[in-house]
Amino acid sequence: MFTIDAHLDLSMNALEWNRDLRQPVLAIRKREHGLTDKPDRTKGTVSLPALREGNVGLVVATQIARFVAEDNPLPGWFSPQQAWAQTQGQLAWYKEMEDCGEMVMIKDLAGLEEHLALWQNNETDNSSKPVGYISSLEGADSIVTLDHLHKAYANGLRAIGPAHYGPGRYANGTDSTGHLNDQGKALLKEMDKLNIILDATHLCDDAFWDAVEIFNGPVWASHNNCRVLVNHNRQFSDDMIKALIDRGAVIGGAMDAWMMVPGWQRGVSTPAAMGCNLDKLIDHLDHICQLAGNTQHVGLGTDLDGAFGKEQCPYDVETIADLKTIPELLARRGYSTIDIENIMHGNWLRLLRKAWN
Ligand SMILES: [Zn+2]
Repeated sequence: MFTIDAHLDLSMNALEWNRDLRQPVLAIRKREHGLTDKPDRTKGTVSLPALREGNVGLVVATQIARFVAEDNPLPGWFSPQQAWAQTQGQLAWYKEMEDCGEMVMIKDLAGLEEHLALWQNNETDNSSKPVGYISSLEGADSIVTLDHLHKAYANGLRAIGPAHYGPGRYANGTDSTGHLNDQGKALLKEMDKLNIILDATHLCDDAFWDAVEIFNGPVWASHNNCRVLVNHNRQFSDDMIKALIDRGAVIGGAMDAWMMVPGWQRGVSTPAAMGCNLDKLIDHLDHICQLAGNTQHVGLGTDLDGAFGKEQCPYDVETIADLKTIPELLARRGYSTIDIENIMHGNWLRLLRKAWN
């Protein structure tokens, strides 16, 4: 079944993890033998061939670069200008993948429909099809000024999550608190004008409630699970989920193990010992469906290359191609074919078609 993954950090992996994503996952892992600089070395699960094998023909792909003030202990750039340059390097990688025929940027309705028709054509097999990507920005620190926002839009940027971890220039994120500042409000208003989708993921609670009030345009949460199942401020409370449902938003289920099962200890817990499998993700999706009373507000936003690999993802995911097992798991939980299509691609497409109409 055609599948959309609404959150991957492909370019970050290419440029900061030094992964040639045109290679099969096993080749990428092999090349990393002996490297110890990242916790997920030799354990990656994502590559362009694996996406094609899994019928994941469309992804939301990030640019990501944080600015850190002197008192911020998180890793990041010491000026917004450096962060901007980092994102432009990431964009250059996506553009190079386009030139190789590996990927294609999807930035409007005509391009979306053309791409879907290509992937629905079963006469050519997936291995020769470019993976479509919608350009998004995770954390808006790198938008130096609103002029940069216009530049980014002209370069195809179509979704922004204003926050990431910690304090941000526009909005505070996970593990942080505080309402939107004037700069954050101005960013949302300009995004509204440009019809850029607001990604509510990573907004701290205060900023989340400000943003849903101020912003009038299309909203999604690219990779977010439920606080009631795993209690952490990174996750959405039921009230937040209900507010998103009221806005017609879609929430992408994330496959970072600590967000899926309670009590995860980073670097200590293992997926098998914690019983972390794809069924646990379905628990989160199902909780949102129960709150909504339908299956129209959930999708997948795996984050499977978000600085973790097999050591911290469901044990029944060897590579991202295993997303193709999810329809059967949903069917076993009583989801109908239409429900399953909604979750695997239909809900993201409905939101995009409405946003880009
Ligand atoms: Zn994230």
